[in-house]
Amino acid sequence: ISSIELTEIFLERIKTLNKDLNAFITVNEEMSLDQARAADKMISSGQVQPLTGIPVAQKDIFCAKGWLTTCGSKMLSNFVSPYDATIIERFNQAGAVIIGKTNMDEFAMGSSNETSYYGPVKNPWDISAVPGGSSGGSACAVAARMAPAATATDTGGSIRQPAALCGISGIKPTYGLVSRYGMIAFASSLDQAGPMAKSAEDLALLMNVMAGFDARDSTSMQRQTEDYSRDLEKPLDRLRIGLPKEYFAKGMNHDVASAVEAAIAEYRKLGATIVEVSLPNTKLSIPVYYVLAPAEASSNLSRFDGVRYGYRAPQYSDLEDMYKKTRAQGFGAEVKRRILIGTYVLSHGYYDAYYLQAQKLRRLIANDFTEAFKQCDVIMGPTTPAVAFDFGEKSDDPIQMYLSDIYTSATNLAGLPGMSIPVGFGDKNRPVGLHIVGNYFREAQMLNIAHQYQ
Ligand code: GLN
Repeated sequence: ISSIELTEIFLERIKTLNKDLNAFITVNEEMSLDQARAADKMISSGQVQPLTGIPVAQKDIFCAKGWLTTCGSKMLSNFVSPYDATIIERFNQAGAVIIGKTNMDEFAMGSSNETSYYGPVKNPWDISAVPGGSSGGSACAVAARMAPAATATDTGGSIRQPAALCGISGIKPTYGLVSRYGMIAFASSLDQAGPMAKSAEDLALLMNVMAGFDARDSTSMQRQTEDYSRDLEKPLDRLRIGLPKEYFAKGMNHDVASAVEAAIAEYRKLGATIVEVSLPNTKLSIPVYYVLAPAEASSNLSRFDGVRYGYRAPQYSDLEDMYKKTRAQGFGAEVKRRILIGTYVLSHGYYDAYYLQAQKLRRLIANDFTEAFKQCDVIMGPTTPAVAFDFGEKSDDPIQMYLSDIYTSATNLAGLPGMSIPVGFGDKNRPVGLHIVGNYFREAQMLNIAHQYQ
């Protein structure tokens, strides 16, 4: 099959399904087909790499030259990027095809996709359920087979939570492994891009393209390149799985617990040993995250001023009024809430009590993992405390919404890699995800573990 044929099949599928699911903000058949044509040329001239000619859905947080890049916001509703993010450049070099830009919570702030300016994405398993967020569009696109793979970003859980709720696989790499250049910043010390796909095997191929040093990202890690597929077939007989006693104590719904326990029993059968570990400070990760992430967001989002690019209020009296009206009209409610919280915790008199305190706790949360990894190779638990919830269920209660990331946000605070794989179904037949946390730069091992289960 040629790339043109493959691309046409997926474009057709998007045409049929996207009006109900709303996973894509932008589809541009001509641009996709141009890339497919170029990929077919690469193939016929013998320059084939694993992703040459393969359509990949790109989260609308990544700048892609010539593509509308909205980040789910009205603020960027008219922004056509003049340049490529590093990961887009890497996919282009590999000959992959951008099949479209996926819907997301505004500026990646959310857990349900309900904060998108472009309307919510639906969960393809049950359209009354949320797909998760912020990368709900990418998760939905893969789950509904509108794309074989997608990119996503994860600041507190946004790759893993939607992957879990949509029944697919996703990995958030170690902080610094994938370049953030050209990825619209939310909370720079936590943001990390990663892939979503059907299987761990596919994730490995995507990681091979996405990971790598980039001089344009000052937090990018200079490491030797790895083949993330190399360990997929390794047996798991020496594996030590840590189960944090705090995760299994309370908070998790019964249906999720039984699916996760069944998956762990499966690993036992594959030869793994189970050890109990403790992460005593993990319970602080949500409050710490919701001080640090908004603090960084309030600074990052100050660039949206209506002057340089993006939305500008149509009517204003002077420069200050223009800033005010632009930001009042361009940002949605959740983004404004974060900017206000962030500005508050960074302000004189509150900085020590909130921001500095949260930074100290962040260190303690990371230390917990360092201790735990002395006793085990990976840590497992549920990705989310419950299966996908219904639209509107949590939208009036930000705290309830924030708790969606209770199991995932600690890994961002520690900079550790985390992934979610589908392990069955819970209440209302909605998917359940198993969360696998590895030590720093152990992505190949995590993909091996995931692959052996599937
Ligand atoms: N749900 C979390 C938030 O709203 C995490 C989002 C993310 O990882 N981008 O901030």
